[in-house]
Amino acid sequence: MDVITRAEWHAKKPSSGYTRLASTRGVKIHYTGGKVPADLAEPGSHDRCVDMVRAIQRMHMSGGRGETYIDLGYNMVCCPHRRTFMGRGPHALPAANGAGLNTGHYAVLALLGDSGLVEPNDDLLHALVDAIEYLREHGDAGREVKGHRDGYATSCPGDPLYRWVRRGAERP
Ligand SMILES: [Zn+2]
Ligand SMILES: [Zn+2]
Repeated sequence: MDVITRAEWHAKKPSSGYTRLASTRGVKIHYTGGKVPADLAEPGSHDRCVDMVRAIQRMHMSGGRGETYIDLGYNMVCCPHRRTFMGRGPHALPAANGAGLNTGHYAVLALLGDSGLVEPNDDLLHALVDAIEYLREHGDAGREVKGHRDGYATSCPGDPLYRWVRRGAERP
């Protein structure tokens, strides 16, 4: 598994401490939605993944989601180069699943849109399974893998990724 540490992606420090989660029932999968460059999955494009993750953190910490988050809202972020960015990490309460739904599941984001890059490639799916396994091993995540739309009114994580979740979220 290829983890990008917070130091490596130049994450800002969280503005206060995380709320600790002893364990969860599992993991919920998210996508960025919106327009993601169609060529993001090309081998030379990974620097743009790093830029995207930093931009999402800045947006979350500056109130772009309506409230100011202490950090990126996700526990981990996966890109189409089979790399996994450390977000809040294991045993931290995410801020992504919807009010009242963050204690039940960790939140893992896929860099995937609803225009441009919309179909997950195999490397993205492998990275998601890497993240799920990591959160099981290090964060006591349970066996459930669900989509953001399970229990919350949203299109997230998009139809292609949600179909993969419903098929069992297995390695391609
Ligand atoms: Zn979502
Ligand atoms: Zn990448």
